[in-house]
Amino acid sequence: MQKILVTGGSGFIGSNLVRLLVKEKGCTVINADKLTYAGNPESLADLEGHPNYHFEQIDLAATVVGEGLPLDPSSSQRSLSAIFAKHKPDAVMHLAAESHVDRSIDGPGEFIQTNVIGTFNLLQAALAYWKELPDASELSSQVGEELSGANKADSEASVSHSTTQPLNHLTQKSFRFLHVSTDEVYGSLAPDAPGFSETSSYDPHSPYSASKAASDHLARAWGDTYGLPVLVTNCSNNYGPYQFPEKLIPVVILKCLRGEPIPVYGKGENIRDWLYVTDHAEALYTVLSKGRVGETYNIGGNNEQNNLNLVKKVCEIIGEELSGQVVQSGGMTASSAVELSSSESPAQPLNPAEGCDHSTTKSFQDLITFVKDRPGHDMRYAIDPTKIRDELGWEPKEDFESGFRKTVKWYLENPSWWQNILSGEYQLERLGGSGN
Ligand code: NAD
Repeated sequence: MQKILVTGGSGFIGSNLVRLLVKEKGCTVINADKLTYAGNPESLADLEGHPNYHFEQIDLAATVVGEGLPLDPSSSQRSLSAIFAKHKPDAVMHLAAESHVDRSIDGPGEFIQTNVIGTFNLLQAALAYWKELPDASELSSQVGEELSGANKADSEASVSHSTTQPLNHLTQKSFRFLHVSTDEVYGSLAPDAPGFSETSSYDPHSPYSASKAASDHLARAWGDTYGLPVLVTNCSNNYGPYQFPEKLIPVVILKCLRGEPIPVYGKGENIRDWLYVTDHAEALYTVLSKGRVGETYNIGGNNEQNNLNLVKKVCEIIGEELSGQVVQSGGMTASSAVELSSSESPAQPLNPAEGCDHSTTKSFQDLITFVKDRPGHDMRYAIDPTKIRDELGWEPKEDFESGFRKTVKWYLENPSWWQNILSGEYQLERLGGSGN
């Protein structure tokens, strides 16, 4: 059984990954998370009290600023070292980040702090821990000595060569550091260009993608320079359960339920390659288990959609799900959606009497409203997933229809999860305006 330190495990992808590791892969997980606005303990409520799940609240990028001194990153590194010493993980999966492009336009400092300094701190703590691990040859000879002692005591014992290998022992060779990143580091693709491969050049355009690019370079440098067994993944846009309601898919779903205008940037022509979040989590586990140290693996869904078609499709699915009343008990139905729209959004209530009928697709599509584009908005991202498919045998399980339907149903069936978020500071407003 593997013991894995996951950073950012209370976020969108992190919580789906932690659930997969604990419930389906039999791993023990230590979730190290600061619990920013994007980190939500309710996303892992089903693992509360599970013997294989541990939580450590930590800011990877806490810095002590001395008088006239440069930033001192040592406080996070010390706290991280204590977590490594306490739990002795076999691997690290590093997901903690500031992740929303629009927020990075309004406040890039947090992105540099967490994504760059935080990654540096984690690499330093992981390296210090890794250096203290036995190397495989040391452990092999120790195990051999122990076994030959046992053989002397019992001359009948017959120990095959394979049982003397330290397969279940944590060594420098077996340790892994998986750095999780994004396809946005590669910049924007021309309409007919092939998808990004592992050898595509970096060309980030937003403060978010630039900070992630910097963190990717750090992770690879710690592998090349110090020998830390680093792997890097670059993945396309994720969607699915537990995504914070500021991102496109939950925004569309919740705007429909509130009967409010659905904002689509520019003309909705931007193209993304969409991947269902549990497919990403499976891919990360595959890379951790089978990937070659020092390599990068690009992860994508073979699912390119332009934003307008995607939004229309989500509207269509919501209409079908609400009109069919197929939502489980406790979830949203057409009538509760109407109640929500009029109780929570008095300024722009949906008025079914005026013809916006929740049971038809077209009514939700009528809410689509084009808004001023995001500054520096990349036109197209797409991933060429050949390497991870051919080398590691990973492929996405969900397609466009199944993945988006599952996602819509999850938001309809779990209103308390997102209602708790929307009762706080974030109110589905547009961010990223300071770049305009
Ligand atoms: P998210 O914003 O939902 O979650 C980020 C998590 O990191 C939160 O739990 C937050 O509390 C935690 N965190 C933030 N700052 C921290 C700090 N200083 N110290 C400790 N914890 C901190 O992000 P996500 O969408 O789940 O993305 C996870 C990772 O995957 C990120 O590295 C992101 O760049 C990458 N990624 C995301 C996507 C996507 O579509 N969402 C696609 C490709 C790659």
